[in-house]
Amino acid sequence: MITVANAIQIVKDQTRALEFEKVGLASALGRYLAEDIIADSDLPPFDRSQMDGYAVRAADTLTVPAKLKIAGESAAGRGWHNELKRHEAVRIMTGAPVPVGADSVQQVELTRELDGGSEVEILEPVTFGRSIVKRGSEIKAGQTVLRAGERINASAVAVLASFGYASVKVGRLPRVAILATGSELVKVDQQPGEDQIRDSNNFSISTYAVLAGATIERLPLAGDDIAQLKQQIAGAAELSDIIITSGGVSVGRYDFTKTVLQELGAEIFFERVALRPGKPTVFARLPNGTLVFGLPGNPVSVSVTFNLFARVAILTMQGSEEMEMKAGTALLSKSIKPAKDRESYLPARLSTNENAELIAEPLKWGGSSDFVGFVRATALIIIPPGTGAIEAGTKVRIVHLPD
Ligand code: AMP
Ligand code: MG
Repeated sequence: MITVANAIQIVKDQTRALEFEKVGLASALGRYLAEDIIADSDLPPFDRSQMDGYAVRAADTLTVPAKLKIAGESAAGRGWHNELKRHEAVRIMTGAPVPVGADSVQQVELTRELDGGSEVEILEPVTFGRSIVKRGSEIKAGQTVLRAGERINASAVAVLASFGYASVKVGRLPRVAILATGSELVKVDQQPGEDQIRDSNNFSISTYAVLAGATIERLPLAGDDIAQLKQQIAGAAELSDIIITSGGVSVGRYDFTKTVLQELGAEIFFERVALRPGKPTVFARLPNGTLVFGLPGNPVSVSVTFNLFARVAILTMQGSEEMEMKAGTALLSKSIKPAKDRESYLPARLSTNENAELIAEPLKWGGSSDFVGFVRATALIIIPPGTGAIEAGTKVRIVHLPD
């Protein structure tokens, strides 16, 4: 049995980023950059006024009211391209270029335009440099503003637009096929008969995979039948980068997933992880290169093992620089007595208390099949193996579940 950390490392080592593709800026949200983004111009591209007011020389406003001659007007998109001389002011708008010779802008509220608009009184001295954003002070042409591997969020879209990236290189989205196995399963729109249950894993896995960026295909449910499993996995391999199965990886008489992978010539990297819930997790690669995650059937084990392992592969394939769940610490809201044998990932709900401390409330749940109890979980508490009872108020390690 290997540790969780080892298993995650193996997934990273065995997964390659897919090729890049170019997407239009409008569909770039949530994708991972496959190129560094370089500023093609200074920002701002000229000394820019931050206020509506008057561009002046600060020295002309030392004694107030200072009466100055209005030499012209600089508006956004239509600047005044002469040199401002002593005892002159230029009426200026937010976003407009500051004329040569001016060194500050006094906001309009602290001025009074005199009759006919030929003169203005500056009512308070303005400090040198006031309300001017100097050319290149935000970014200089040629500087790297975003790096390959970063996720494109809404503010990154604005940056890309500013520097003329009408399209951008991003990692291709992995195609993930999802296969729920088990002869007890019926489809969601069916009434379970005797000894049957509705399949939920097909939907939870595909939803988590979509959250991680994958394009997904849900395969028809497979019974515990070697020939049928083999045919479905072999067929899916041709069309997918990753196959994620659920169920059939334990030591039961009808647990056939591993047998089938072996018969298809897969290289199995691990098949048991020192983890609770989720011990019998399988990670393998088929001869054509398709990766396979064989997750245990229990719905909570599915959530834990998907997010610990399969999500890492989906993000690595997209070129993401961060693939693991966001880790942190929180204070336990009540004492717990974890099982000692394996590293445990306990469902918890996070909140913030009045001292701005993060609190993890361990959820009451009935084990790895209690996915109704799991619904409220926003994080997992990580308990090292061999840990005894933990008191309320203890600082514990957590990972945030994606949502
Ligand atoms: P297994 O890993 O195949 O031994 O399954 C473990 C438990 O998870 C059993 O109680 C199964 O009935 C249940 N289970 C397996 N697959 C699913 C599924 N797709 N949806 C809901 N429960 C499942
Ligand atoms: Mg089963």
